[in-house]
Amino acid sequence: MSVSDWRARAACATREPELFFPLGATGPARVHLEDAQRVCQACGVRAECLDWAISNGVDDGVWGGLSAAQRRSMKRRADRNREAAAERR
Ligand code: SF4
Repeated sequence: MSVSDWRARAACATREPELFFPLGATGPARVHLEDAQRVCQACGVRAECLDWAISNGVDDGVWGGLSAAQRRSMKRRADRNREAAAERR
């Protein structure tokens, strides 16, 4: 699926882009982040969006329902799992 295919079906297509770029993850920004994540939870292309953000190293904003920090954490976990699997071979 090309980028334009899934973006055309994005739940955020009609929302203000600023909603998906909270300034942090604490205090009022936490509420902002959670508002964006609620939109993502109802999005039919969440997996494609998350894949795209991770594949392209996007390090800001909410993509696929995850904040940049959550995506970094997910990537670190995946890297550790890959390393552990390679060591077992
Ligand atoms: S998962 Fe969230 S950021 Fe990604 S396309 Fe859907 S609504 Fe937009």
